[in-house]
Amino acid sequence: MAVNIERFVSEAKGNGLRALREIKVGEVIHSCEPFAFCIAKGFLKTTCQNCLKRGESLLRCSQCKTARYCSAQCQKQAWSEHKRECKCLKRLQPRIPTDSVRLVARIIFKLLSQSESDKDELYSISEHQSHLEDMCDEKKEGLEHLCSTLQVYLSEANCDFSQLPPGLDPINLLARLHAHMCTTSRCVQAYCAKLEESELVPSKYYN
Ligand SMILES: [Zn+2]
Ligand SMILES: [Zn+2]
Repeated sequence: MAVNIERFVSEAKGNGLRALREIKVGEVIHSCEPFAFCIAKGFLKTTCQNCLKRGESLLRCSQCKTARYCSAQCQKQAWSEHKRECKCLKRLQPRIPTDSVRLVARIIFKLLSQSESDKDELYSISEHQSHLEDMCDEKKEGLEHLCSTLQVYLSEANCDFSQLPPGLDPINLLARLHAHMCTTSRCVQAYCAKLEESELVPSKYYN
C-alpha cells in the first residue's frame, strides 16, 4: 500500500481513497500498472498493443492479423499476454468481438495465471461489486448475450472457468466491468444506450 493514501469505506458510497499527508498541486500520489487493458476497436489499427504508442504503419501480428505493434521488441514483450487471445482472435477473423468481451477475456487469462505475489495491493477485482442483483431484466439479458459471445470467443483457449476465484465467473466479470466503466449517472445512461445499440443486437456482436 502506498504511503501517500489509504483506503476507507463509506457506508453509503462504498470504497474511497484519502490522502494521508498534504499533497502539492500536480504531485503524483500513486501509480500502478493496469490489471488488464484492451485497445478499443476503433484504435486497433493505429495503436501498439504493448506500449500504446500511436502510428499509421504498425507491424501486424501474422497470426490473428488484429494486434499491432510499433516494433518487433514490443511484439515480443506482449507475446505472453497476447498468445492466448491470439488463438481466439485468429479463429474468429475477420470478426472482432466487442471491447468488453476482449477485455473480460484478458481479465480471465490473467486471473487464471496470476500468482499470489502479483495480486493488486490497492483494490482487487473481487472487491468491485457486480450489481447484478440490482440490474433490470433487460440489462441482465444483454449481459447474458455478451457472455455467450465471450464463451464462443474463448472456446479456442480451453479455459477452466472452475479455477476462477469464487464469484468471478464470466457473467459476473462482465457485470463488474459494465458497472464500473462509468460512475456518473449521465455516463451510465450514455453507456447503457451504447450497450443497447451496439452490443445487445446479436448481428452486431462482431464487425
Ligand atoms: Zn510499442
Ligand atoms: Zn495475434
